[in-house]
Amino acid sequence: MTPESQSTPTQSVNLARLHKAVRQRLQSLKRAGLTHLNPPIDTDWDPSKLPQTPTRTEESAVGTAVEPVTIATPPPSPTNIPVETTTPAAPIPESPEKPMPSKKQIQLDVVCQEVAQCTACDELAATRNKTVFGVGNPNAKLVFYGEAPGADEDRQGEPFVGRAGKKLNEIIEAMGIQRQDIYILNTIKCRPPGNRNPSPEEQENCSGFLQRQLEIIKPDYIVCLGAIAARSFLKVTTPIGELRGEFHTQGKIKVLCTYHPAYILRNPSKKRDVWEDIKFLMKDMGLKIPKKYL
Ligand code: SF4
Repeated sequence: MTPESQSTPTQSVNLARLHKAVRQRLQSLKRAGLTHLNPPIDTDWDPSKLPQTPTRTEESAVGTAVEPVTIATPPPSPTNIPVETTTPAAPIPESPEKPMPSKKQIQLDVVCQEVAQCTACDELAATRNKTVFGVGNPNAKLVFYGEAPGADEDRQGEPFVGRAGKKLNEIIEAMGIQRQDIYILNTIKCRPPGNRNPSPEEQENCSGFLQRQLEIIKPDYIVCLGAIAARSFLKVTTPIGELRGEFHTQGKIKVLCTYHPAYILRNPSKKRDVWEDIKFLMKDMGLKIPKKYL
């Protein structure tokens, strides 16, 4: 059954008239010389000529003035949260805890800071690189006392670190103890230019710092190394050779005098004298003297 067969009588009349009108028009065009009709113009494959898909905003703007619809991103839910699959970080190693400084060390640090600011000796304060406060165990029973910092000490800020320092280390190790078991300091804290001897005025200027250090450390023994240190500490002018071989006393402190390690380096024959002084000290301290040194 054709669509026409389904049309009403009125519609069939209209279609018949339309067919007749089209036929008459085509016959008229043919008589006018038209031999064929062009097909409908198609759109080339040019994206700019293609019908554009309207955006959501355009869709909503068409017709009524509907406000643009904003489509919100759904909040993350437990099921759509991205899961990171990285390797778990290695545990951070705990840094070893530093031991709390002792009360004596804190007191020494206070004095040390004052020394670093000191300008009592104009020339020394102007020419020094570092002050040389002292180093060692704040609870030391034994203190080694030198004369003044040299070039190596001035650079490093620590006493007895040059060749003379190595010789002192040998003496300490021969005693069966370690450098960290004792305390080491000098008559003054700043290097005299050209390694000259410290002047009496400079020694006097610095004596207050020395006294405060000794009051904090409270050693039982002090070994004065060399004539400058011995005379400065004991306030005497006696030659070092005459001060050796016996204890002097300064309050409750036993004071022993011997040659400076630098002097031993220049006069190796004096090494035996120094060792005799050290054995004398060790016996009094109750330290065992190794058989090879007896
Ligand atoms: S030697 Fe002693 S008193 Fe003199 S400037 Fe140095 S720290 Fe001060």
